[in-house]
Amino acid sequence: MSKDSSRPAAATPRSLTGLAPFLRPYRGRIALAGVFLVMAALSTLAFPVALKVLIDEGLVAADPGERLLALRGHFLQLFAVGAALGVFSAARFYMVSWLGERITADLRDAVYAHVVRQSPEFFESTQTGEVLSRLTTDTTLVQTVVGSSLSMGLRNVVMGTGALIALVVTNPLVMTQVLGILVLVVLPTLYFGRRVRKLSRASQDRVADSSAIAAEVLGEIPVVQSYVQEAREAARFKDSTEAAFDTARKRTRVRAFLVGFIITATFGALLWGLYQGTQAVIAGEISAGHLGQTVVLVVIFVGAVAVLSEVYGDLLRAAGATERLMELLDAKSPVEDPAAPRVLPATRGGSAVSFDHVTFHYPSRPNQPSLVDFSLNVQPGETVALVGPSGAGKSTVFQLLLRFYDAQQGQVRVDGVGVREAALASLRERVGIVPQDSTVFSTSALENIRYGRPEASDEEVVRAAIAAYAHEFITALPEGYATYLGERGVRLSGGQRQRISIARAMLKNPPLLLLDEATSALDAESERVVQAALEAAMQDRTTLVIAHRLATVLRADRIVVLEAGRIVDTGTHEELVARGGLYARLAAMQFDMRMEAAHETPV
Ligand code: ATP
Repeated sequence: MSKDSSRPAAATPRSLTGLAPFLRPYRGRIALAGVFLVMAALSTLAFPVALKVLIDEGLVAADPGERLLALRGHFLQLFAVGAALGVFSAARFYMVSWLGERITADLRDAVYAHVVRQSPEFFESTQTGEVLSRLTTDTTLVQTVVGSSLSMGLRNVVMGTGALIALVVTNPLVMTQVLGILVLVVLPTLYFGRRVRKLSRASQDRVADSSAIAAEVLGEIPVVQSYVQEAREAARFKDSTEAAFDTARKRTRVRAFLVGFIITATFGALLWGLYQGTQAVIAGEISAGHLGQTVVLVVIFVGAVAVLSEVYGDLLRAAGATERLMELLDAKSPVEDPAAPRVLPATRGGSAVSFDHVTFHYPSRPNQPSLVDFSLNVQPGETVALVGPSGAGKSTVFQLLLRFYDAQQGQVRVDGVGVREAALASLRERVGIVPQDSTVFSTSALENIRYGRPEASDEEVVRAAIAAYAHEFITALPEGYATYLGERGVRLSGGQRQRISIARAMLKNPPLLLLDEATSALDAESERVVQAALEAAMQDRTTLVIAHRLATVLRADRIVVLEAGRIVDTGTHEELVARGGLYARLAAMQFDMRMEAAHETPV
């Protein structure tokens, strides 16, 4: 959430525990991966032991023939160790990468499924690009950790600890001193680690910012180009990617320091130990094989520490990413199914709708109510037209009926059940909506209409298209009903899009139709056809229509006039015009120009 991104970063490696529920289903595989991992680490640790035996026993046998045989035997042993290492590493790699991919996929699905259930309030404060960035870059970071860093880390913990224990056991005195020095390394590391963590989170936030900008601009490219703002938008995007680069640079710098410090300090401490070892060989206190074994153990240990310091950085980055993902998963939609959801009772001939003293303001505008003491009863089968100046609250009535928001006061009921008591799906199944800007998805015409009822047969889709006066133009498309529409396909005219949208709603066949008439003027012919389609859609159901056309208000059983969130008048067209109030003025302005077209309409 962009608002949150300035918040001080709090991700700690503990944030990774958020992933636990995603790991749990794969316990068996994780355990198996763990087994392979330990086996591979043990094979690595067996190497110096085999080496010591090779040097001390294989090279010292008196008889040359015996020595050759012994040497061969020892090399075979070394090869066996190597082969075991190869097999176990491959098994571990496969298991762990599988887990990484699987868990990332699960995480993406879970976040997406959660986000699409959020009410519009969520999308007012979170930009789409931001969500996309979390779904892609943040989950990819998690994948790096689960699918490689974590196993690399574990393997090196096992190997490093093993090597360390072996070192301490074989060289107790020297290694105790070395360990003392190493503790001094840990303290500054913690300080650096904190900074890396903060910068990691900041860096992910900056990346998300640029994604948010890109998503918004790419979605509105015709507007951007018509105002010749390409250069400015490109510069704005560049600023944001530069900001991302800048935080990434800072993070990398601190991490580089961290890695350099850990490796140098560890190396220094161990070289000091080795130096003492060579002295011991010279003094005859330990064998050459012993020193050789110590050298390999030291190399393993230093290697493990070097890898761990990098892995630690990765873990910190992933902790930041996990935290951002968990924030999304924790977002609780203010509109959710009630504890005991009610299914709306069956209806015939349309739904009954009632608003009972409803007062509502949008969450982002607590001081400006959009509906005030709004009461309205609509009988089954009735057609009610909502009219009023822009911003009067007409669309808000629809938003409350679909329960996109909850009213602060009063009750909204559909078929006698309060919308807060009803199961969301049951409520929304009952409602069909034809919005002003008809949405066309980038899929075939057939699937676009079928969106209204996914299980509908092709015949039913065609029937709905015929009823919505869409059949004719669809069959004239290059591939008829199979023609791709929308962004990557055929662009439809405004009137055609509306008819697709009407067909979609008719296929759903809801008892309650919410219709937002387009304000944009269509040419007389399209308008006549769209109007006819709407007329057909209104048959045999309750309809609430935000009316912009004379034909529609003339057909309505009742017209409700809204102003500043209040009902100021109700009646038929003739009654309201006769009263000469707001409606008469609105009608004179809005409808006069279209009188001609309207009269041609078969009302
Ligand atoms: P129009 O005919 O222009 O579409 P309308 O009558 O449908 O207008 P509404 O969209 O219901 O008006 O808006 C009523 C008031 O609520 C307006 O003041 C509007 O600015 C405000 N409003 C609408 N949607 C939101 C929102 N998501 N967040 C905050 N305020 C909103």
